[in-house]
Amino acid sequence: MAAPWRDVVRDAAAVREAAAVAVDAALLAGGLMRTGEQPHASDVVNYAPFTLLPSAVPRALFEQAYAVQQDFNLLVDAISQNKEFLEQTLASTIKVDDFTARLFRIYMQVLEEGLAQTVFLGINRSDYMFDCGLDGTAALRQIEINTIAASFGGLTSRTADVHGLVLKVLGKTEEASHLLPNNPAKGLALGIAKAWELYGSQRAVVMFLVEEIQRNIFDQRCVENELWNRNIRVIRKRFRDVFEQGSLDASRRLYMDGQEVAVVYYREGYVPQNYNQQNWEARLLLERSRAVKCPDIATQLAGTKKVQQELSRPGTLEKLLPGHPEAISRMRATFAGLYSLDEGEEGDRIAATAIADPDRFVLKPQREGGGNNLYGEELRQVLEKIKDSPERTSYILMDKIKPQPALNYLLRAHSPLQVSECISELGIFGVYVRQGQELVLNQAAGHLLRTKAIEHADGGVAAGVAVLDTPYLV
Ligand code: ADP
Ligand code: MG
Repeated sequence: MAAPWRDVVRDAAAVREAAAVAVDAALLAGGLMRTGEQPHASDVVNYAPFTLLPSAVPRALFEQAYAVQQDFNLLVDAISQNKEFLEQTLASTIKVDDFTARLFRIYMQVLEEGLAQTVFLGINRSDYMFDCGLDGTAALRQIEINTIAASFGGLTSRTADVHGLVLKVLGKTEEASHLLPNNPAKGLALGIAKAWELYGSQRAVVMFLVEEIQRNIFDQRCVENELWNRNIRVIRKRFRDVFEQGSLDASRRLYMDGQEVAVVYYREGYVPQNYNQQNWEARLLLERSRAVKCPDIATQLAGTKKVQQELSRPGTLEKLLPGHPEAISRMRATFAGLYSLDEGEEGDRIAATAIADPDRFVLKPQREGGGNNLYGEELRQVLEKIKDSPERTSYILMDKIKPQPALNYLLRAHSPLQVSECISELGIFGVYVRQGQELVLNQAAGHLLRTKAIEHADGGVAAGVAVLDTPYLV
C-alpha cells in the first residue's frame, strides 16, 4: 500500500511540533475519554488515543466496504428473523458456551411468549482489514460484524478535522483538503429517532443502557445530543436500575419509574462480565417488552462468531436471502476463510491443519470486546489441548489476515512519542429500521478507522490497543 507520508515520518522536529498541535486540536474538538483513574466523573478527562497521521486506505476497497453495507444490514435482519437457522447454527455452541446459552434461552423464552415488539432497529458495524496478497495487491476482508454496542461512531467524527490540521502543519495543505467528512453519530441518531417515531408515543423516552464504568461516555453523548437536538428525551440507565425501577404494563409497554421507554439502545450487555443474576432478569424484562431494542436478542445472536462462520458455508447465504444473488456475491467477496471446529471429520481435519501451521489462522471464542483471540504458538497449544474434547466447539477458526504495515505515531496520554509499524481496521456503520415486515430505512452511516502497532495481534480502542484514525484514500 502507498505510504504517502514517507518524507515527514522521519523528521523528528516536525513530528514533535505536529503532535503537540494534534493533541490540543483533539481536546478542542472533543475527542475525549474519561481516565482510568477517574472513570465515574468528567472532572478529569483526556484525549481518546489517535494516530498522528491519517492512514492510507485504497479507495476501491473503501468504496467496496460502503457498497456492501446495506447488504449486510439486510442479512443481519434476515438472520434475526430466522429461528430455524439460529437454532441449528448455535446448537453446538450453546452446549459448551454458557453465555451464548443464556442469551439463547432468553431468545426462546420471548418467542414462546410471542413478541410484543413490532418496530426493529439495527445499528451494526462491519469491520474489515486489507489483506495483502503475494503480488502486493490488497483485498477487503471482513473481520466481523458487531451487532451490539458498536462504538466510536461519535468520537470518530472528531478525528478528520484534527488530521486535516496536522497535515497543514506538516506542509500537506493539498492532501488535507482530500480528507472526507464523517459523522456516524448523526446516522445512528437518525435510526434511533425513526424507531422512536414509529413506536408512536410522544411522551416516551430513549433509554441508553450503559455500563457501570463509563469511560467512553463522550462517544455516547455524541449520539445522545443528536437526539436531544431532535427534541427526543434520553435517559441513561444501567441494568441494575432496570432491575430496580423497570416494569411492564398489561400490553408490555416498558416503564422506568413511571416513564415510558420507546427505544432501548444497548451500550452494554455483550460480555458475560456485564451480567449477574439481577442483570439477567433485567435483560429478560427488556426483551419481553414492546420497546424497540437495539439490538433485540435475536440480532445480538446474529452477530456471534459461530453465525459468521456458518455464513461462509456454500449455500447458506442463498438460503437466508433468496432472490438477492447480487447482494450475496458482494458480501461473499469480502469473506475470509472461516472454519467450524464442531465435532466430526471436518473439524478434526482443520484442527490438525491449524496445529501444523498456526500462523495461517486465528482461533476465536464466542466473545466480543477484543483481547480474546488466540494466535501462533498459543493457538497451537490451546488447540492441541482441546482438540479431542467438546470444548473445541466453543471456538471457530479463521484465516489470518496479513495487511501491509505502514509507519505512524500513536498518540496516547502519558506515552512517549515514537514511530510504530501499524496496521488498520476499517469499520462501516450500518443502520436499519423495520416495521413489521417492511424495511423503512437501510443505510450506511459512516466509517471508523482504527490503527494499532503490529506487535498487538488483538484488541480495539476501548481495550487500549488500537487508536482512532482517519482514512486517506489512495
Ligand atoms: P472482537 O469481537 O473481540 O472484537 P474480532 O473478531 O473483531 O473480535 O477480533 C479482534 C481483533 O483481532 C480484531 O480487531 C483484529 O485486530 C484481530 N483479528 C480478528 N480476526 C483476525 C484475522 N482473521 N486476521 C488478523 N487479525 C484478526
Ligand atoms: Mg472486533
